[in-house]
Amino acid sequence: MKKRILVVDDDSMNLMRTKMILGQEYQVVLAESGAEALNRLKEDEEQIDMVLLDIDMPEMNGIETFERMKDFAADIPVIFLTASGQEDDVVSAIRLGAVNYLKKPFRPQELMRRISQEFEKQ
Ligand SMILES: [Mg+2]
Repeated sequence: MKKRILVVDDDSMNLMRTKMILGQEYQVVLAESGAEALNRLKEDEEQIDMVLLDIDMPEMNGIETFERMKDFAADIPVIFLTASGQEDDVVSAIRLGAVNYLKKPFRPQELMRRISQEFEKQ
């Protein structure tokens, strides 16, 4: 069965682009906000194997979303998506236990490679 990846980003263009890149190999679930992502993760019937999480989002940013995820979905690997100039956010994310992040805009091959590397670790 294909692995299922939840992509969280407030930029709908980036969501669509990422879905196109991942769609061949993975099942892709999209969320446009941290709150929507948390709801998706709570749905038992929809097992999520990995989360790609934008840091810079209004209302609930990626760091806060990640912190809340830890309460009930701590085992799911997370790759943060960051834009340039967000190095402080990356440091915060790493302090919280996330070790993996990818800078936007990323190349399709880079994204696919990072995801398969992350799955291989498990
Ligand atoms: Mg954003």
